[in-house]
Amino acid sequence: MAQIKIENLRKDFGSFNAVKSSTFTIEDGEFFMLLGPSGCGKTTTLRMMAGLELPTSGSIYIDGEEVSQKPASQRDIAFVFQMFALYPHMNVGKNISYPLISQGMPKAAVKKKVAEVAEILGIADILNRPVGGLSGGDRQRVALGRAIVREPKAFFMDEPLGALDAEFREHMAQELRALHDRMGATTVYVTHDQLEAMQMGDKIVVMNHGVVEQFGVPQEIYDWPATKFVANFLGSPPMNFLDFHAMVGKGTDSVTLGETAFAIPSLLKGANGDLCLGVRPEHVTLDDASTYKGRVVAAEYLGTTQIVTLDTPNGRVKARVASSDKVTSDTQVGLSFDARTVTIFDNDNGRALVSKANEGVLNNG
Ligand code: ATP
Repeated sequence: MAQIKIENLRKDFGSFNAVKSSTFTIEDGEFFMLLGPSGCGKTTTLRMMAGLELPTSGSIYIDGEEVSQKPASQRDIAFVFQMFALYPHMNVGKNISYPLISQGMPKAAVKKKVAEVAEILGIADILNRPVGGLSGGDRQRVALGRAIVREPKAFFMDEPLGALDAEFREHMAQELRALHDRMGATTVYVTHDQLEAMQMGDKIVVMNHGVVEQFGVPQEIYDWPATKFVANFLGSPPMNFLDFHAMVGKGTDSVTLGETAFAIPSLLKGANGDLCLGVRPEHVTLDDASTYKGRVVAAEYLGTTQIVTLDTPNGRVKARVASSDKVTSDTQVGLSFDARTVTIFDNDNGRALVSKANEGVLNNG
């Protein structure tokens, strides 16, 4: 059980800056996701938390104690890697008991502990089996058993499901989450898969080029992205971006796209410049009454919904609408957006002017 706090964490490899200045807190018992594209610094951040890499600057606290410069062995963390390197010459029981035997725990206590852990993982009946012939799922359970048995303060997992095929991956993801809910141990999980992060995580940190773009609960990050990067990285299809130039007076609460003014309550007070309206595909409605038109380029049938691609005066837009909505290629249709769900971004820096996370930031009028 552990709270893990990161403050201004930075890592340089020679002249290359891999992690810029990360600050976030992982609360005790959370299932916490480090999410971002390849090379964004997720693994480096995790390795610094584990003590496998020392930070260039900044601090790491575990349960209030600063551990930034302490070696991994003094942090009481269990690392579960992508490749489940089990000891091939030992059976399941011996693989799980190995960390306890190395610590010098008496035999009877080891046996009791291994039985407990095997029960939690549902592998009590295969303790005597060699690990060689096990299925992928059982190998993962044994690897987890070996981590759990030590009762560490926290579990760190680096893309543990990365090598599995899609169906099995989903099954193991559910099992991992259920196991976490039973045990309640702080878990930090690295992934580049936005769906996995949203499905499994209590909280998510989204990283890009070594920078923490946003930190929060999945729905907050999805609904109120702090940057265009986050808006684009989460969601499939991602958020639509409609560029526009705003020269609005104080108190004007609308966005003009083409000739059409969209009411955007209290967002744009005094904003000027090159801005962008972000709207998720599921918040775009095909609306004959709207004077804002788009030309239908394609419709992709997905069962209960369809993704309609349209060209508008402000760029390409994707709408997720009911499959029963009739659309014809190459025709003009009206579009409307739910004003409560849009985000306005500043195109100069890609940041949301106002989102739930930073409401009130825009007030330069
Ligand atoms: P991936 O999912 O591809 O592993 P990641 O987000 O986990 O991506 P990191 O492994 O943390 O990314 O790497 C961040 C950056 O730091 C990458 O550009 C990587 O090449 C670089 N890097 C990582 N470790 C080292 C190292 N030991 N020496 C030099 N550069 C490194």
